[in-house]
Amino acid sequence: MNFSLNISQIREITEAFCEAENNAILTQECRGISTDTRSLQGGELFLALRGENFDGHDFLTEAISKGAIALMVDENHLSEENFNVPILKVKDTLEAYQKIAHGWREQLNIPIIGVTGSVGKTTTKELISAVLSTQGKVLKTKANYNNEIGVPKTLLEITKEDNFAVIEMAMRGEGEIALLTDIVNPTIGLITNVGTAHIGRLGSREAIARAKCELLANMNPEGVAILNADNELLMETAKTVWQGKIVSYGLEHGDFQGQIIDDDKIEVQGEIYPLPLQGSHNALNYLGAIALAHVLQLDLEPLKAGIEVNMPKGRANRYHLDNDIVILDETYNAGFESMLASLELLKNTPGERKIAVLGTMKELGEYSPALHHQVGEKAEELELDLVLILADEEDTKTIASGAKGIPTEIYENHDQLLHRVKQIMTKGDRILFKASNSVGLSAIVDQLI
Ligand code: ATP
Ligand code: MG
Repeated sequence: MNFSLNISQIREITEAFCEAENNAILTQECRGISTDTRSLQGGELFLALRGENFDGHDFLTEAISKGAIALMVDENHLSEENFNVPILKVKDTLEAYQKIAHGWREQLNIPIIGVTGSVGKTTTKELISAVLSTQGKVLKTKANYNNEIGVPKTLLEITKEDNFAVIEMAMRGEGEIALLTDIVNPTIGLITNVGTAHIGRLGSREAIARAKCELLANMNPEGVAILNADNELLMETAKTVWQGKIVSYGLEHGDFQGQIIDDDKIEVQGEIYPLPLQGSHNALNYLGAIALAHVLQLDLEPLKAGIEVNMPKGRANRYHLDNDIVILDETYNAGFESMLASLELLKNTPGERKIAVLGTMKELGEYSPALHHQVGEKAEELELDLVLILADEEDTKTIASGAKGIPTEIYENHDQLLHRVKQIMTKGDRILFKASNSVGLSAIVDQLI
């Protein structure tokens, strides 16, 4: 069975005002909540959200013509038209959307895993989902539906047939994870790490740690916290806000401390598991999934046999071109920690030359020049063969000043950079592409593959 709340229940949950008193209508089952008429299905309630580009209130007529059985609108919305379906009026439609999602979640009695952290959320979510899929039906966050709209949307997709739900929770500032946690009410909360993403906005690592730990501060005390023990600041901060159960994992510390064997396996508590993704950062992410498997007391045999995971585009993607050239596509995102992780990954990928094509890490505020410089230092320390830099910001050039001991080249536009990459690519090269998404390095990867 899919989503099943009736209009009357939705009215109650959202404290909506509704003129219709016709019981037959109000007790009608609602098949789902739609916020977009392009994907609306008959039998759903259409909830009008106000976004940056669109206002759902402009699409009410279209919603009805597509079969919406009720509308939820802002109480201040004045409509000229007379709709022959119940109209539920609320103070704030986004808040109502979140309340409905929460109301639906509360009808489900399954493990719901909330995943947050500075980096590795999507990867860990995918790894966890792959692990859980060996034991039952899993609903997971799609694309990047990880914010105040995406999280409720995800919750509303859970059906009574699902055995597990894995919800990615992202933030840009203080208070956001707290809100998402209240909506989701996770039974298990996993924090991948505390890094420097959004430090420009939050001001310090400590502030970032507190923001991530809102997941714990707002979680049901009966729940379980799964934490990356290698991240000291995370562990310290977590203990100040969470008195409940903690299960930790790490490559250096933790209840589930893992040892990488031959680059492609990991030994944890005497058991050996094949690693589904390359790179030690992904081994760490997988340890989180292994810890979760233990917390849920899952059958570990499928994990020992090896699981497969398909990562979304731009993360841990590899393309094998002619001439044994391999492209490591990490263009979806870049923060300081993930830059370092990707450079290590490049270094450890067997092949001839190791070339990094790097662009700006956005939203680092005043920390930006220093952190770009440190990325350069790391590239030098790893003795990479060449670093090509796409500098759409002045700060990005400090990668080159950090990497004085190795060859670097700076480009200011995509075409020049693409041209140069094509010119230098030779047999056996391993080429990493990484920058924040908005830099657009993925377009260059697309041209090459
Ligand atoms: P977003 O904020 O965009 O949702 P995210 O937290 O979901 O990011 P992922 O998409 O999983 O993060 O990974 C982003 C990049 O971070 C990857 O391409 C990889 O290079 C790197 N990464 C993943 N896991 C880790 C980790 N545990 N430590 C350091 N870097 C990591
Ligand atoms: Mg993500």
